[in-house]
Amino acid sequence: MDPFIRSDQFNFIKRQTDILINGHSTVNEINVLNALKLLAKEKVFNLFGEMSEEQQQIIEPIIGVEDRDGAEKYLFQLRSYVIPFKEVTEQTLKKLFPKVKKLKVPKLDKLDLKEISYISWIDEGSSKKYLVAWLNNKLVGLSGTFTKINKKGICALCHRHEEVGMFLSEKKGAIKDTFTKKGNYICYDSYKCNLNLVEVDKLYDFIERLKK
Ligand SMILES: [Zn+2]
Repeated sequence: MDPFIRSDQFNFIKRQTDILINGHSTVNEINVLNALKLLAKEKVFNLFGEMSEEQQQIIEPIIGVEDRDGAEKYLFQLRSYVIPFKEVTEQTLKKLFPKVKKLKVPKLDKLDLKEISYISWIDEGSSKKYLVAWLNNKLVGLSGTFTKINKKGICALCHRHEEVGMFLSEKKGAIKDTFTKKGNYICYDSYKCNLNLVEVDKLYDFIERLKK
């Protein structure tokens, strides 16, 4: 069967298994546990809308997750159905930022494409952060200055409390020689951010809003 689980959906399911593990280690009442299981199943099923019988059978065993071991086994079999980030080359990345001379791009073969919803890297020299994602089947790049703040904050992409920095992108204004800056706090560590991401729309909205 074809992969049908997005990376952010996988992260969401993983988080549900964490809730179940926690439930099984703290709750004794069978009714409460059953309610917890049903809720986890419902939330995960809701991610997908229409599912084939086969897909349902792949997701369904979340109900049986009780401990770390069980979760690992379940998530391991789920992983074969995760849709990988559509492959890109260093050349394609460079083309997304034509104005940047000698753009340094990350080593793409080091990326686990099933674990990412976006590619991002920081060029320390120019203090710029680059974000690349597929939006409606089109590869889109966004760049901005990135200033790390030395405390944790809420990331606009994954909504978790992490080491963040201010990402600011600059756009030419309607009037000549004017600029508008738009930005928000996002994770410094984009690998972690990708693993935290449970709602990919937040990422797409962010990119769209800043591209305009
Ligand atoms: Zn984040």
